Amino acid sequence: MPRATLFVFGDQLSAEVATFARDRSANLRVLMIDAHHLRQASRHPLRRALYGLAMRAYADELREAQVEVDFRSASSFSEGLREHLEEFLPERVLVHQPRGRRAERWCRDSGLEILPDPFFLTDPDWFSDLVARYPRVTLETFYRHQRRRLDFLMEGSEPSGGRWNFDQENRQPLPRDGGAWPEPWRQPLDDGERRWLAEEGLAHLAPALEYWPRTREHALHQLDDALERIVPFFGPYEDAASSFNWHLAHSRLSVALNLGLLHPREVAEGVETHYRAGRLPLASAEGFMRQVIGWREWVAAWHRRRPASYRRSNALEATRALPASWRQLDEHPMACLNAVFAHVREFGWAHHIERLMVLTNAATLAGYDPVSVNDWMAHSFLDGAEWVMEANVIGMGLFADGGVTATKPYVAGGNYLSTMTDFCRGCVFSPKERTGSRACPLTTLYWQFFVDQADVLTTVHRVAPIRRAALARADLPEIAARAPEARRLVAGEEASGPPSLSDATG
Ligand SMILES: Cc1cc2nc3c(=O)[nH]c(=O)nc-3n(C[C@H](O)[C@H](O)[C@H](O)COP(=O)(O)OP(=O)(O)OC[C@H]3O[C@@H](n4cnc5c(N)ncnc54)[C@H](O)[C@@H]3O)c2cc1C
Ligand code: SF4
Repeated sequence: MPRATLFVFGDQLSAEVATFARDRSANLRVLMIDAHHLRQASRHPLRRALYGLAMRAYADELREAQVEVDFRSASSFSEGLREHLEEFLPERVLVHQPRGRRAERWCRDSGLEILPDPFFLTDPDWFSDLVARYPRVTLETFYRHQRRRLDFLMEGSEPSGGRWNFDQENRQPLPRDGGAWPEPWRQPLDDGERRWLAEEGLAHLAPALEYWPRTREHALHQLDDALERIVPFFGPYEDAASSFNWHLAHSRLSVALNLGLLHPREVAEGVETHYRAGRLPLASAEGFMRQVIGWREWVAAWHRRRPASYRRSNALEATRALPASWRQLDEHPMACLNAVFAHVREFGWAHHIERLMVLTNAATLAGYDPVSVNDWMAHSFLDGAEWVMEANVIGMGLFADGGVTATKPYVAGGNYLSTMTDFCRGCVFSPKERTGSRACPLTTLYWQFFVDQADVLTTVHRVAPIRRAALARADLPEIAARAPEARRLVAGEEASGPPSLSDATG
């Protein structure tokens, strides 16, 4: 009779956790709880479906490996745990380090013993030493130390190709003809998965779920496929976006990684192997490695050290409520927001540029309250999680931390979007116009942003020229007059004097 319980969260479906449980199966029972709060209406239904399928598949695999599993549906983790304790009377309940603060607090309050974190490459003590040497530890400093320490894309002590960064080669706009993009990996659902979805009233989600891994085997296939067919094209077009293609050359591995189905080490080792075998150009290998051992680990390491109050940072004093049309991912009059909402609605996912240059850009320019933007994104994305979103949404996307994460606000007007994407070609607004009824709402608000935030941005040197240019504009009164209408449009409201597609430039 097992004397201990290992509690496994839905984002801990990892091979390392399975090995831990298998090695102690004589003395350990696994507890998994499908908590009803995941069914809240504010959450994307695909999240509930994917987590439900992946957790059940993981439990089945553990059972096949002779691990006893208590899989429960409960209204909350607390209720599920209480029922488990009453039924099995374990002497101890263990859990691997939860990734979120709320989850960790719950574990501590509930008396769970927390085991070390097997989900990341970065040891917290190593990161503490780095912080002691470089108190702000920028991404670039962190990334170079990671490359050296982990020996990825290195030739002795020098980076492969003699440079740490190939960004110059990686800034290409979307090709004029839209480009030809590799079909994304997908795996049809099996009968058991379809049955469960039907029982839960989620059968309509099956087509979208095919694009996401539900098991470790799926995740390994997706990784191989991404390294062979997708990542080689990742570098050059990592800053592009399209209305007609939701994935371009993005690996979409964040979902498998955040569920725990893949370990970042496996991804980085795969990149290294493909690069050494000549199957992956260095610019793409470096750009992708930077995301996995750099960005992902950096935001997680900082998250562990930052106080809970970080998420309430609001350096730009943005207080407007997130509009209902955003929460519901409604159809939108602006082609860029319309396209990205559609991608999130259909697949529970959007790639980095859509998140940064469309969603948080528009939210920053419109002045939406950071916490509500952060929580909306966390609930809307299949890879959404507290530990990764705070730095990305509060820090990088909204500049709400005043420059702790990013060295400048990532804001852009229609001009930038029309260069890097094809969104503007199908839009009723004109990206170059700042004023008047056809003005792109983002272009108007972009210039207004530098006026409204002029004081806050005085110390942000990277935007000094654009701030000066904004304050010197002769058409500031007209921009200011157009700004309220632009905000209404970003909120998804009808234009007061609607422009029509026939007016739009090509
Ligand atoms: C506003 C905003 C919100 C975001 N929300 C999330 C989120 O909820 N969950 C999430 O995992 N990532 C988030 N990111 C980071 C990044 O956009 C996604 O990880 C990436 O788009 C996932 O697609 P991919 O797997 O194709 O990534 P790729 O571009 O193929 O990159 C490979 C992997 O690197 C990691 N990675 C890349 N960029 C980042 C980053 N900035 N921070 C952390 N990890 C990164 C991811 O695990 C990703 O799978 C967000 C970024 C922004 C700007
Ligand atoms: S013109 Fe402006 S609103 Fe329209 S798609 Fe381009 S950036 Fe978006």
